Amino acid sequence: MPKKAEDKKTKEETEDKQEEKPKKRIKTPELLRGFRDLLPEEQPYWDFLRSTVRGIADSYSFQRLVTPVIEDKDLFIRTVGKQTDIVEKEMYQFETPGGEKVALRPEMTASFARAYINHGMLDRPQPVKLWDMGPLFRHDRPQAGRYRQFNQFNFEVFGSEEPIIDAQLMVLLHSIFKELGLDVVMQVNSIGTPQTRQEYKVELVAYYRSNRARICDECKRRLQKNPLRLLDCKEEGCQEVRAEAPMIVDWLDEDSKNHFMQVLEFLDEIEVPYVLNPHLVRGLDYYNRTVFEVYLAKEDNGRSQSALGGGGRYDGLIELLGGREGTPGCGFAVGMERVVAALREQEVSIPVRRPDIFFAQLGDAARRRGLKIFEDFRQAGIHVSEAFGKGALKSQLDLANKLEVAYTIILGQKEVLDDTIIIRDMDSGSQEIIDAKKVVEILKKKLAETGDKPIMPPLDTETDLS
Ligand code: AMP
Repeated sequence: MPKKAEDKKTKEETEDKQEEKPKKRIKTPELLRGFRDLLPEEQPYWDFLRSTVRGIADSYSFQRLVTPVIEDKDLFIRTVGKQTDIVEKEMYQFETPGGEKVALRPEMTASFARAYINHGMLDRPQPVKLWDMGPLFRHDRPQAGRYRQFNQFNFEVFGSEEPIIDAQLMVLLHSIFKELGLDVVMQVNSIGTPQTRQEYKVELVAYYRSNRARICDECKRRLQKNPLRLLDCKEEGCQEVRAEAPMIVDWLDEDSKNHFMQVLEFLDEIEVPYVLNPHLVRGLDYYNRTVFEVYLAKEDNGRSQSALGGGGRYDGLIELLGGREGTPGCGFAVGMERVVAALREQEVSIPVRRPDIFFAQLGDAARRRGLKIFEDFRQAGIHVSEAFGKGALKSQLDLANKLEVAYTIILGQKEVLDDTIIIRDMDSGSQEIIDAKKVVEILKKKLAETGDKPIMPPLDTETDLS
């Protein structure tokens, strides 16, 4: 064989061999455990929740404060408490290339307190009322309803220790759920001063020690490390022990007792549904006096109740971070994933933003003209849906039907040449040909007449949640 032909053959053989090689499978990266994507289907619930929270924040004159998701980790160690699960086990912490020791925020209140001090908000008219919503991170054990990145909305009031503030926060919290269409009930307690807590802890530990044989292993550990958390345990045996446990209200000082009575009187006045829970203490170190949690009034599927949110007073927090001594504070946080889950489980009907009209096109010229028409409608505040990627009229009309629009506008080659456009009434199927220049005006009128506009409150376009 001549050398050239031989070379050619070898080349072909090599190519054949290469073709035979199994194609390398490209592995798609997976979501990290405990994290989730919030898909488009779920967004209407999130939009509804966010716009409801924003509306209530405005009506109660709360101002938004947005703090970073990364902070000096010391901020959380000092405020949330060294011995708490959040700091001990759940905080995402790392060293930056610059050597700073930072943490992804596991909660928002500490950041708010830091910002209040950093920006001299003490010099503003008090109380300062702030709110925000956004993601938090806890390296928690992933389970139903528990994620490693989740979202909360929180409301905080700095600079007033008046009991009416505690009550107003609960009223506001209740209003949010009322607007969302969810029945909730508040659990309320008072944990007095840090001094009260110390004295109570001694008594609680003594009681649990005498019942050591009846509690779970985790509680045995809590007994050493964080005795107040003993009261949060959901194990049956531990709950039996808890039923007889001493109650912190019996240790309250006179001022805290009076403060608490006044909070309850305000709540009675405004008829916020609440129950007293003498074992409610909340996990974080910075709370004092009023503490509360919010629960669904009726939990579906008999699942064990978990709080939608909670909060309380933290009169020592600002001082703890180096702010002015005696600056009081009170606030709450609600887990947004849990609220969205409740809206879905209880099949609460939420406003869905539907397009007002559908734009169907036939042919390239119509498609080109369509881009401009689409823009004209958008500027006129009419929400148009289209399927520029589709060719056949039938499939476009099917889609328009699915979207339940009242009208479809149709633009074909002929209409492009005539400068006209067809309006199709989707209910009756009747069509009319009109001057293309007048289409926006005419549809505006038609939509107003049929009452199809506005279909729902303005769409919340915010995308600051993952
Ligand atoms: P906390 O800051 O621990 O009092 O939590 C307040 C609310 O945030 C809870 O009642 C939950 O609704 C929500 N929450 C806390 N941790 C998680 C988590 N890991 N995943 C989802 N939601 C959470």
